[in-house]
Amino acid sequence: MTKPSKPLEAKGCGCGLTIVVVAIAYVLAKFFHVPGGVAFGIGVGVAVLGVVAYYVNEFKAQKILDHEYEQTKQLQPAAKEEDRDEVPCPYCGETILRVAKKCKHCQSMLEL
Ligand SMILES: [Zn+2]
Repeated sequence: MTKPSKPLEAKGCGCGLTIVVVAIAYVLAKFFHVPGGVAFGIGVGVAVLGVVAYYVNEFKAQKILDHEYEQTKQLQPAAKEEDRDEVPCPYCGETILRVAKKCKHCQSMLEL
């Protein structure tokens, strides 16, 4: 069973995480005069939240894909059922719609 690959937007939020941690720690230390260790701690905290958000996002994206995949699978038999709505005309044997009241090939009335 081949599942569709994840969309690109579901990826990407995970990369550059280290840069984010350093950037947050740097901004906090530089502009808010937060002690280095605390700033780094906050940076890591935010990064952890980011990772959690990233995996939640991944999970959601996969859920949506699975859902679309299921829908696609369900749509295929439905299309086949539509095909089965065609039956051979009892008079001329040509394929006609099951709901037809009159054969389009031999003009026979088909009402039961
Ligand atoms: Zn016919």
